Amino acid sequence: MRKQIAAANWKMNLTVDKAEVLLDNILSADISLSSDQLAVFAVPSPYLQLAQQKLNNKENFYIAAQNCYSKKSGAYTGEVSVEMLQSLNIQYVVIGHSERREYFQESNAFLAEKLNIALEYNITPIFCCGEPLSIRDAQTQNEFVSTQLEESLFHFSADDVQKIAIAYEPIWAIGTGKTATSEQAQEMHAHLRKVLADKYGKDVADNISILYGGSVKASNAKEIFSQPDVDGGLVGGASLLADEFIAIIKSLK
Ligand code: PEP
Repeated sequence: MRKQIAAANWKMNLTVDKAEVLLDNILSADISLSSDQLAVFAVPSPYLQLAQQKLNNKENFYIAAQNCYSKKSGAYTGEVSVEMLQSLNIQYVVIGHSERREYFQESNAFLAEKLNIALEYNITPIFCCGEPLSIRDAQTQNEFVSTQLEESLFHFSADDVQKIAIAYEPIWAIGTGKTATSEQAQEMHAHLRKVLADKYGKDVADNISILYGGSVKASNAKEIFSQPDVDGGLVGGASLLADEFIAIIKSLK
């Protein structure tokens, strides 16, 4: 059965003291998760170890890196390797966030390399896809997102592709306060699951978690997460507020 995931993406926010308070507040809240529900915190790299220690193996709570490089180690100043993440016991990594694609020119082919090395090191990727507004306006979002999947994921075997979680994040809804309607989210998630089913079969597609991202907050999480093909969310802004993110975790189905 696929997991329901509430993933926080802190992006490049919070100083260490504020990060600690935020994690403490969330971890001390009364949240009970079933075995198929997870809360994941994608924290800035300098806080990975501290955040991992704070979690203290709390069941169903995980720390994620926000990025990784495609090489194992070497002369790549400023980059973070999956080998380093593994050595810190980090089990998740966000790959292909639209901000990485846009500001750091990360292509589908390059993201495929990052996915390869993440799986080689047994780190679960949260692979982001999603269309810009111009593509949505032209109503070609299904083709656009299918290509992202084909070019980054479709070289994997059925066994391996099930180790990846996907986050559908329409770029026009990220950080804009403009959320996709729950119908728009469901429509795209059903499309993505069909693309996966056509390639790998229905059983495989049904096993893959597909999160929605784009201005998710406490007030809309329950409705969006209740859609049959939406398996939780990747949350930016609202994940920086303890009460908001606690409510979002509690909205998982
Ligand atoms: C994100 O960072 O992936 C995101 C969806 O941001 P926000 O929730 O702020 O739109």
